[in-house]
Amino acid sequence: MNKEINDQLALLGGNKLINKEMTHYNSIGSEEVAAASQVVESGVLSQFIGAWGNDFFGGPKVQEFERKCEKYFDVKHAITVNSWTSGLIAAVGAIGIEPGDEVIVSPFTMCASATAIIQWNAIPVFADIDPKTFCIDPVSVEKNITSKTKAIISIDIFGQSANIDALMEIASKHNLKVISDTAQAPGATYRGKYAGTLSHVGGFSLNYHKHIHTGEGGILVTNDDDIASKLQLIRNHAEAVVDGKGTTNIANMIGYNFRLGEIECAIGIEQLKKLEHLTQKRQETAELLTQGLSGLPGLQTPIVQEHATHVYYGYPIVLDVDALGVSRKNICNALVAEGVTIGEGYVNVHQLPMYQQKIAYGSKGFPWNSDICEREVDYSKGICPTAEELHEKTFLVMPMCVYNFDHEDISLIISAFHKVWKNMELLR
Ligand SMILES: *Cc1c(COP(=O)(O)O)cnc(C)c1O
Repeated sequence: MNKEINDQLALLGGNKLINKEMTHYNSIGSEEVAAASQVVESGVLSQFIGAWGNDFFGGPKVQEFERKCEKYFDVKHAITVNSWTSGLIAAVGAIGIEPGDEVIVSPFTMCASATAIIQWNAIPVFADIDPKTFCIDPVSVEKNITSKTKAIISIDIFGQSANIDALMEIASKHNLKVISDTAQAPGATYRGKYAGTLSHVGGFSLNYHKHIHTGEGGILVTNDDDIASKLQLIRNHAEAVVDGKGTTNIANMIGYNFRLGEIECAIGIEQLKKLEHLTQKRQETAELLTQGLSGLPGLQTPIVQEHATHVYYGYPIVLDVDALGVSRKNICNALVAEGVTIGEGYVNVHQLPMYQQKIAYGSKGFPWNSDICEREVDYSKGICPTAEELHEKTFLVMPMCVYNFDHEDISLIISAFHKVWKNMELLR
């Protein structure tokens, strides 16, 4: 047993256990520098034109990156966008949403998963999450289906796929579309296939904080030709393009400039080559962490579904605060004082002011109080008890794409947990 474990808690004036400066996670190297420089030297930083023709699809690096993503993720179409937020907006439009349609989404996610629905004047309906995976719970989804439900947005949160088999079964039964927000789980697998590719449309974020990145960016993936074509149009000024392209169904053909540049795509090509190696390294450290923490009373380490892999964008922990008799806040403060980077709770999107006050477009409550919204949608506290309890009382998450943990770092983190657990009585 490590001697330091018996020391006084740093929170109570003792020595801090982790004094080492850990290296920041950085997926960018000389390969990306060379790839970006080459584009800059060429002078062609973007080749998109918002009109029908060859340049409607972007320049050489955009197209090369997309073809490489198709091969890597084994999908028919990969479409780059300037952020995954843009990707989500394009996806909701491309599946043929009508104003006032309801889309079921998890509240335990980054806000954009739900805002993309509002962007098309559709209505987000929040379903509860599974306490083991923190992804949307198919049982709660089914309970929230009404005659207005058109789609489900499933988030593969922290690095693991949702129960996509169950969600696709519900979708086929009720004639719904499923969008996968796999921002945090590129490379995670579910029954041997990549998360994000098993629904009607999915995709990944390439922002600076994610597993691999291009500064800002996103990749949409789909096996559906019609959805792919609509995604490309929404990405690039659809309304100006449909005529030239000969698109007759112009529903939701409202375009944006969601185009990703040549520099970002050149960097993306290099990043994609590194995804597997970076993921393996993180999985290895996360598994070490799980070995070191399992056995601590009142602490639940990540639960990985049998037929799935986890890529650990975050390392989720659930505390049994009743059994421990200590608040999460005290435990978290004690861990932070020892030098552990860990956060309390996650997000309850339905608790944001936009939903609580039902104020989005303008000041008068559109779309909720308009004719397109046929019923009173409930966003009050209590609609998602599991997500709420986790967020407010029991959930902790360690970011895994902030530091590049080595084995020594992980063993220090494990020691810090053991030190806190050993002194748990003092935190009561
Ligand atoms: C990061 C993230 C997004 C948004 O991605 P951006 O590329 O930053 O726009 C959406 N959903 C989830 C779950 C995310 O983690």
